[in-house]
Amino acid sequence: MMTDQGSSFVATRNACKMCTPLGACLAFSGVEGCLPFLHGSQGCSTYIRRYLISHFREPMDIASSNFDEQSAIFGGQNNLSIGLRHVLESYRPKAVGIATTCLSETIGDDVSMFLNEFRSEQAGNADVSIPPLIHASTPSYHGSHFDGYTEAVAAIVDTLAEGGKRQADLVNILPGIVSPADLRHLREIVSDFGLTPVLTPDYSERLDGPPWQQYQRIPDGGTPIDMIRRCGTAAASIQLGDTPTGRTAAGILADKFDVPAMVLPMPIGVRASDQWFAALEKVSGRPTPKQHADERGRLVDSYIDAHKYIFGKRAIVFGDEDFVVSTVGFLAEIGIQTVLCGSGGQSGTLKESIDRIEMGPSEPPRVIEGVDFEDLTEAADDVHADLMIGHSKGYKLARHLGIPLVRIGLPVHDRFGASRMLHVGYRGTQQLFDRIVNTLLEQRQDISEMGYTYL
Ligand code: SF4
Repeated sequence: MMTDQGSSFVATRNACKMCTPLGACLAFSGVEGCLPFLHGSQGCSTYIRRYLISHFREPMDIASSNFDEQSAIFGGQNNLSIGLRHVLESYRPKAVGIATTCLSETIGDDVSMFLNEFRSEQAGNADVSIPPLIHASTPSYHGSHFDGYTEAVAAIVDTLAEGGKRQADLVNILPGIVSPADLRHLREIVSDFGLTPVLTPDYSERLDGPPWQQYQRIPDGGTPIDMIRRCGTAAASIQLGDTPTGRTAAGILADKFDVPAMVLPMPIGVRASDQWFAALEKVSGRPTPKQHADERGRLVDSYIDAHKYIFGKRAIVFGDEDFVVSTVGFLAEIGIQTVLCGSGGQSGTLKESIDRIEMGPSEPPRVIEGVDFEDLTEAADDVHADLMIGHSKGYKLARHLGIPLVRIGLPVHDRFGASRMLHVGYRGTQQLFDRIVNTLLEQRQDISEMGYTYL
């Protein structure tokens, strides 16, 4: 079946994605003591810092090799060496995560070779100890922030993981781009099965931590490097999100160390969460703990209670592909029909993944890959949707259509508490479900001439 690729307009207008190294910087922030470093122009790191700070509301240092006109013409090796020396001396990082920008990729800088030469040059320098230098190739004209994140997680594991004796209680969790609250919840669930999670990356503390007495250049938190080294000995890898393309951390661990890989959809909704819990039952050999089974029961009960408020509503869903797929599946199980969905990502698998969802009596939605908000606006005008579900960049479209926007994913920079938004598992689905139901009730109340007080 042909995939709907949006209009034939040659430029992106109001992108439904963010830049590729942004995702890499987020992933590098989830490794303990790791400093994200952009090889390219300073403006790129400023843009990425601003975007991530407005979502997480925490400070974020991203170093830059600070290209100028000369480096743009003659190459950025000298800038990279100077920048790395500077950050190693002043930040003393446990690792440096180096992501390339559009400019360094366009001029063809061979960063792997530059890093090898840097290591050789500094080998005799007693003042500088060289931590792992993790390189992710992230040209932003090819892919989205999600691809940059996936590539950076793959690079982290490829650089650091080691093999060894299989550890039956160790499980690699590769969570996709989720909130700090989601990361904490995933860790809690895995621990409740008696397993030790290696959650890579884990930015839950670094990007949602308590206030400091003194500024920390590299905040506490992140997956310990010693734990990532043990990834090759784990009983299994569970990758959440089944839309990544290119190399993945789960694939690398399977190829290099024979760690079995389980690739699941993002656990949003009862069915997708059931798959996540079933995977943990299989790895641990234990049944789902009672507290989680009880949460599932309460969630199903709330589906029944709220059915009359939401059944037959029509939704537009957009954002990262893994979120879109699971959200569409979740809406189908609660009786909301997705009429249009789109993502700025271009994995080529979005439509196929949506087509696999059990839609019940509903028509499948129109699916547009590689979409921008101009394309989405043109498509949305005819679908008579009741609500939109996606990140904050969809606000203008929601306003244009006069329908509410339920914010999920990243970025959420026009509401407070993005770090505490829970999406995953039975508990996260419950919170999302309540938000959707209440949003529709609020809208009904607002447009009613009667001013209902009892719904
Ligand atoms: S130039 Fe490329 S890497 Fe830099 S901010 Fe823009 S899209 Fe991102």
